[in-house]
Amino acid sequence: MTVRTRVAPSPTGDPHVGTAYIALINYCFAKKHGGQFLLRIEDTDQVRSTPQSERMILESLKWLGLSWDEGPDVGGPHGPYRQSERSAIYTEHCERLLASGHAFKCYCTPEELAAMRARQTAAKLPPKYDASYRAFNNSVAAEREAAGAPHVVRMVIPDNGTCRFEDTLRGVIEIDYSTVDMQVLMKSDGLPTYHLANVVDDHLMGITHVMRGEEWISSAPKHLLLYQYFGWQPPVLTHLPLLRNADKSKLSKRKNPTSILFYQRAGYLPQAMQNFLGLFIKSASEEDEKTSLQELIDGFDVHNISLGGPVFDTSKLDWLNGRYLREELTTEQFLEAVKVWALNDAYLMPIAEMAQARITKLSDLGALTSMFFMNRIEGLTAEALRDGVKLEADQQRAAYTLALQQFDALVEWNKVRVEATLRRTAEVLDAKLKDVVRPV
Ligand code: GLU
Repeated sequence: MTVRTRVAPSPTGDPHVGTAYIALINYCFAKKHGGQFLLRIEDTDQVRSTPQSERMILESLKWLGLSWDEGPDVGGPHGPYRQSERSAIYTEHCERLLASGHAFKCYCTPEELAAMRARQTAAKLPPKYDASYRAFNNSVAAEREAAGAPHVVRMVIPDNGTCRFEDTLRGVIEIDYSTVDMQVLMKSDGLPTYHLANVVDDHLMGITHVMRGEEWISSAPKHLLLYQYFGWQPPVLTHLPLLRNADKSKLSKRKNPTSILFYQRAGYLPQAMQNFLGLFIKSASEEDEKTSLQELIDGFDVHNISLGGPVFDTSKLDWLNGRYLREELTTEQFLEAVKVWALNDAYLMPIAEMAQARITKLSDLGALTSMFFMNRIEGLTAEALRDGVKLEADQQRAAYTLALQQFDALVEWNKVRVEATLRRTAEVLDAKLKDVVRPV
């Protein structure tokens, strides 16, 4: 059997360090066993998925030194590797489940589902599709179908019993079917949900080992049932511990930047970043913490991954990056790295456009543009930023909160959108634009 693994990111934002960590593990495992590593784009969420995000994810993983044997950019015998291009495959598989009675068309209206949830909340039950509604649905389905009412397709979950499965790192896991939702497999627009697309693709793409984040453990019973319904052999499952902040909370951008682009921009070397992520999969007993991709592959053992939760400790990354800068690069290579980082036309041109009109001699440039070459803005204190701002402290706080929420939701970070966000914030708070812009 040839080992085949994959990473299956959803292109809905900046490339996340967690995706790189999962990709690295899947890559090393496949290469250690002489197998193949695939990249699949899971863009079933048509609203949040963007081509820019997909491009950034691919570029970031390449920047980290990873490559894939099959994927949307390199092709392969099991393509297409972008789920939005595989709709017909999912429709056909959904039809199979309907025909075998393992799925059913659900015509429940949003109001009926809301009533179901209200009843469950009142009874302090977890929200899920209530089996009694299935009987009700069956009684009205033909009539609603004839009237052309919209429907979703849900999978059948056994009324009772337990799903038992083996997880490489966690041993046997048991989940009662009574806690598993009758998952929507196909939405009313005829597009699949993650669960159907993921299982169908993993099977058709010959994936032998699924190694993914632990947040998917609760989905495993649904996936395993789907394999059973289709009569397929399921892959070996490994649920990986999620990256954590130093306080052990789930890695979040409030406490640590999570975008690979941030680390690129901040001037970390890809080798150092790769090495840093590699530390999470190395045995703790290994002495030198500096390691190459080949060493990671050769020494890869999934059991080295500690379930305790790998801590994303950026001081360690700093330490490693310093070592790489000092120990691994000649002066020429160092200079080249600086050029790739920022001293190149693509990065300098927009800065030049802004600076040209604002200086009287070229040596003013250093002080004027230093923030473009720094990770944080030194010397610019909160007091200095608030100087002359005519907003009470609580209004300033409201401005930060409001602006931040909207910035978070921006799909594309550009001048027009950022400016519109700030204007909206000022309007909502009935404040002057400059009083909002300055502290933000
Ligand atoms: N698209 C899913 C994600 O981004 C993939 C999960 C999986 O590996 O099955 O988390």
